[in-house]
Amino acid sequence: MNEPELPSGTHRVCHRCGTAAAESVWCESCGLNLKQQDELPTADAYAAKKREERWLHLQTERAQGENAGREHAARQAPKQTAKVAKISLGVAAALLLVGGGAAAALLLFGSDDQQRATPAATEPAGSPAEGRERATTRRQAGRAPRATNCRDVIDIGPTGSDPADAVSITARGVSCGDVRDVLVDFFRNSIQAGTAPGNAFSVQDFTCRETSGGGSCKRRDGATIKFSLG
Ligand SMILES: [Zn+2]
Repeated sequence: MNEPELPSGTHRVCHRCGTAAAESVWCESCGLNLKQQDELPTADAYAAKKREERWLHLQTERAQGENAGREHAARQAPKQTAKVAKISLGVAAALLLVGGGAAAALLLFGSDDQQRATPAATEPAGSPAEGRERATTRRQAGRAPRATNCRDVIDIGPTGSDPADAVSITARGVSCGDVRDVLVDFFRNSIQAGTAPGNAFSVQDFTCRETSGGGSCKRRDGATIKFSLG
């Protein structure tokens, strides 16, 4: 794409065309009456504004391409379209920042407010996870809270590849909402520390380990979290 070169510097320019403002009343290039303007931008400010406009325009065009048949609407609301594109970029940046695992966690654990209100998540009857949960409950009977299946907490979110379907999470002595917080930090910490499977590391007040397909965390009071990624 051939874009006109943008000016740079701290001198004042015509805000319509970017030409350096001379002593004369009129812009040499486009004829705008410069003396009537409240304040002329610096060349750097003008260039920054133009770059932003180009970027917004690009995002809008891209969004229009992706939404064939919605071109008209996109043209009617270019600012909104750009905003959505900006958010998408933000999400993409976050994914790059924290890595795939944490990204999945962030997406999966995206909205937990309503989940906090219903900590006792349920699961389909007769599933393997339920069998394990029952066995755990029997072992722990009388001395620890029942294990909760927190799969519903993570089995949400607008994930493209949707790894959520293969994930299981069980927690004992800790709410599913807290599980979410711990696991987000789990991925963050393990990526930062470059933790090898089997090595223990701290996540909030838990001691956690990665396993081949997931991880487990324990707290001194006996609370546990176990999860596996599909
Ligand atoms: Zn001008």
